[in-house]
Amino acid sequence: MIYPELHFTGQVWRPPYEANSQLLQITSGCTWHKCKFCSLYYGTPFRMSPLSEVEADLKVIRQWQPRAHRVYLTGANPFALSYNKLMDIAILLRKYLPHLVSFGMFARVTDIAPKSIEDLKNLRHMKLDSINIGIETAHDPTLERMNKGYRATDILRQLSKLDEAGIHYNVFYLNGLGGKGKGVESAIATSDVLNKLHPCIINIVSLTVFPESQLYQEVVDGTYEEAPEIERLVEMRTLISRLNIKVNIMGHHISNTVPVIGALPNDKAAILHELDNAIAQLSEKDLKAYRNRIYHL
Ligand code: SF4
Repeated sequence: MIYPELHFTGQVWRPPYEANSQLLQITSGCTWHKCKFCSLYYGTPFRMSPLSEVEADLKVIRQWQPRAHRVYLTGANPFALSYNKLMDIAILLRKYLPHLVSFGMFARVTDIAPKSIEDLKNLRHMKLDSINIGIETAHDPTLERMNKGYRATDILRQLSKLDEAGIHYNVFYLNGLGGKGKGVESAIATSDVLNKLHPCIINIVSLTVFPESQLYQEVVDGTYEEAPEIERLVEMRTLISRLNIKVNIMGHHISNTVPVIGALPNDKAAILHELDNAIAQLSEKDLKAYRNRIYHL
């Protein structure tokens, strides 16, 4: 028997909590491709899938997963598509998957800017219920140094629009991104912004520099000094201790030398206790050896 294939180009990433979602490619690569630390979509130019391709994939999905109830749209930031294009996709999802309850995708902070609150509410009405955003940090000097293309005020302004439109969102914090000596500042700036927002999940990932990234060259030539491992634990502790919102913390990514997970505020004391123990007992050398063994995210 010949199995029909879906269109997937280049690297396909999804958050761990989307493991049960049906994946559907509507873009490949990233529209921005300029963040210094990033190697996630290395070698894959941005491409928007033609609607005919999306429709062909949906015909396959309807045949093999007729009761699919959640779809995750793939690509680094499919939310970069215009409101009209996203509505076209939402209409196709509705047409081919009658049991669909919701869909989600990754977005850059800047992808939200061109969309009005009314646009966002309409997309929510069409079952877009959550998006995942790599804010990385809300520390302006770090955002600028890493070429993220937005500032902390943009994070606050754009994610507040999602709150108003009723679209849930999860963010990614990149621990250690500021480099040596900047972790606590980064954590303070980020907690100050997040405390004014309503993310459902804060994913914490610890910076691991791969040769495909621009930052790697800066590490090699000594213009960027990576944050020591113990300093990163202090940074994570600072971030979590300062959060006063109700939010889930998912810090058990492979890049974290000390995995933490829990729901704030209930689990805050336990998480901080765990981090305090790690800071007191673990050695920089062992933690660094762990990071050096990470070959891929
Ligand atoms: S971090 Fe995200 S926005 Fe930046 S280049 Fe990588 S995929 Fe694109």
